[in-house]
Amino acid sequence: MSDTDSLFQRIIDREIPADIVRENDRVIAIRDINPQAPTHALVIPKSHYRNVAELAGDDPGLLAELVETAHAIAADDGIVESGYRLLFNTNADAGQTIFHVHLHLLGGENLGGMTGGPIKG
Ligand code: AMP
Repeated sequence: MSDTDSLFQRIIDREIPADIVRENDRVIAIRDINPQAPTHALVIPKSHYRNVAELAGDDPGLLAELVETAHAIAADDGIVESGYRLLFNTNADAGQTIFHVHLHLLGGENLGGMTGGPIKG
């Protein structure tokens, strides 16, 4: 599968279903299918970038929009005061599996330390 034919592109194109929480012409946000916390959403630009560095270099405003969208979802889920974590995985050691940049929003419980054990597989 090519980067531009990624799973997220197929969700954007409505070729496969997803639990969409927010959408506009530039951004789509979905619930993660394998949530790692009570709130686990993925905020995805509709334009294709392989990782956050590519996105930041080409369109920093769109990167800011991802953060604003994640914060809005956190507010809707009532977890701004309790706290939330935003993260981008980049390449193998971070566990990136889908090479269409996406911002993870995690919260709704104590998230523990910054890193867990080694990535399996
Ligand atoms: P990453 O490992 O940072 O590339 O994150 C990819 C994320 O996509 C993982 O947290 C997966 O659980 C999630 N994921 C995979 N397939 C789907 C899907 N069909 N709908 C929603 N989330 C998905």
